[in-house]
Amino acid sequence: QADTAMSMAKRQGRNHLSFYQAQVAQKQRLDVNLRNQFQQAIDQERLELFYQPIVDLQSGKVVAAEALMRWQIHEGEFVPPAKFIPMAETTGQIIPASQWGFARACKDLQTMLAKQPDLQVCVNLSAVQFSRADFFEQIVATIKAHDLTNTQIELELTESVLMDDSEHAIALMNRFRQAGLSMAIDDFGTGFSSLSYLKKLPLDKLKIDRAFIQDIISKPSDEAIVRGILAVARQLNIEVVAEGIETKEQAVRLAELGCNYGQGFYFAKPMPLAEFMEFLA
Ligand code: C2E
Ligand code: MG
Ligand code: MG
Ligand code: MG
Repeated sequence: QADTAMSMAKRQGRNHLSFYQAQVAQKQRLDVNLRNQFQQAIDQERLELFYQPIVDLQSGKVVAAEALMRWQIHEGEFVPPAKFIPMAETTGQIIPASQWGFARACKDLQTMLAKQPDLQVCVNLSAVQFSRADFFEQIVATIKAHDLTNTQIELELTESVLMDDSEHAIALMNRFRQAGLSMAIDDFGTGFSSLSYLKKLPLDKLKIDRAFIQDIISKPSDEAIVRGILAVARQLNIEVVAEGIETKEQAVRLAELGCNYGQGFYFAKPMPLAEFMEFLA
């Protein structure tokens, strides 16, 4: 009887193992498939950029447009950036995708300037790009090729860019900033770094992550954190954008606290260029 139980356990163990292996194999097939489909989207220029306005909280004026990449894998079916950006970072596909994206953002800004001459465009960068030798030259050349000036561009980076090789990253940030581009830190407050590293960074703007904004009305602790960030930023001469503003109440409170800019569904969701043009009008 013991013998039977043992062989049953073994059999089940084997079955479990092969079930697990089958799952891993299937996931790998799906990953390869997704990667191939993303490559096709890059090659056939089927990626898109949506734009979300960034608004001056005092005047209500739109000061910038953040470019957000979109990948429509099938008609009406979008893969979220939270899924394809990390994938593209591991495969290296983020490099050609971002090169396309940056050029498109420059081209689209030219279109937007007809409606709003002092608009900036904000582009998200990934750490992979920051480690490339010719990255600075490429960005500056693309801006020039589109008859724009460096001051019309803002580069957004997350704390992860600084974690890999912060010396190199800070040096590169300095180069960009000396060339006139604005530098912003994105998703501020969600990374591992502390407030103290802010003084080491050549920064124009800091974007407070949505996590601290969403409950700012109901949670005094979140309001306190935002107040703290604003106080430090003011001392360091860094302007602040609040991300993920969804209600009028949040916009009003943030304006009262002295936050410079806001972004979020309350003002507008990210939208295609044509819609953004109407929004500006
Ligand atoms: P992010 O740069 O922090 O962009 C803001 C994200 O918050 C966007 O998500 C936007 O749609 C969303 N959002 C804006 N307002 C609200 C709001 O009021 N409520 C809520 N719930 N969400 C709001 P999205 O477009 O899905 O992008 C996610 C992230 O993917 C971006 O976060 C950015 O880190 C990354 N990403 C997007 N496009 C690019 C790109 O071209 N290159 C790189 N490297 N990363 C990108
Ligand atoms: Mg961003
Ligand atoms: Mg963000
Ligand atoms: Mg975010």
